[in-house]
Amino acid sequence: MKQCILKAASVTLPLVLRTKGKQHLSILIYHRVLPKYDFMRPSEPTIKEFDWHMSLVSRCFTPLSLARALELMDRGELPENAICVTFDDGYADNESCALPILKKWNIPATVFVATGFINGGRMWNDTVVETIKCAGEYIDLRKVGLDEYTFNDSQSKRIVAQKILTKIKHREVEHRAEAVDFIESLAEQLLPNDLMATDQQILNLEAAGVEIGGHTVNHPILAKLNDRHAQQEIVDGKKHLETIIGKKLRYFAYPNGKLGDDYLESQVRIVKEAGFEAAVSTTWGVSARNSDRFQLARFTPWDKRSGKFLLRLLLNQKSVKL
Ligand SMILES: [Zn+2]
Repeated sequence: MKQCILKAASVTLPLVLRTKGKQHLSILIYHRVLPKYDFMRPSEPTIKEFDWHMSLVSRCFTPLSLARALELMDRGELPENAICVTFDDGYADNESCALPILKKWNIPATVFVATGFINGGRMWNDTVVETIKCAGEYIDLRKVGLDEYTFNDSQSKRIVAQKILTKIKHREVEHRAEAVDFIESLAEQLLPNDLMATDQQILNLEAAGVEIGGHTVNHPILAKLNDRHAQQEIVDGKKHLETIIGKKLRYFAYPNGKLGDDYLESQVRIVKEAGFEAAVSTTWGVSARNSDRFQLARFTPWDKRSGKFLLRLLLNQKSVKL
């Protein structure tokens, strides 16, 4: 591991020196931290992987809370390699698996919670993934406008689940829910109902200094909603979380997060009017003083090796496209 890091450092050092003085903020995006490897979710880090991610963040970057980072960015006083850690959706493992590691490395974080699934709910994508995970070797989804699928190993199951997710992701909410309900009805086991955080876990995160942010109620593709409906999703989610934690929410994350595909410019205004101070997207990159506070970029390297992970993170920090 040491060799990888040294190699990464030798490549990036000249870049770091060339861009010294430019103040960039990297915002990492995570969803889950898994207790152990899940063949259906290979891109989600395990506790062990998240531990070395945070070890690198702690040793090679300056981790800041979103509030502190934005305050320093406004003043033009962002430190070198400033970084924030964020989680989307509100998974229970943010509290049970990620929080102990964040505490270990003393790294602030923000967790954006979609309130419609907390306390025993399940996000639609997890219903699909969990159903395919426990399925036999065949599933027929032609009834809901999909295909017949066969799978005989973990890799083919993962591929099928991804195919289904991609096909129904941008369907109208009711149309998608219909397909997901049908898929769930074919589940060969009881699906888990403890994937998302409880009120108590949200309170535990908040008590540990983690910022809680808004992420709508039902995690809709906002771009598909009219303004009134989008506002309802944004405001109701905010109010619900404020009731749980007893304080104002300051930050918001757009579900899915790509401008145009997932949210519209007009909805940025709705987020501002709802009383949020800033918002994050899923557009890759870094933010700087002149960035739109309501469309801050995020980025997390996907590499499974620490040297490459660090290299990609440093290159992103210096706005070098790979
Ligand atoms: Zn999300």
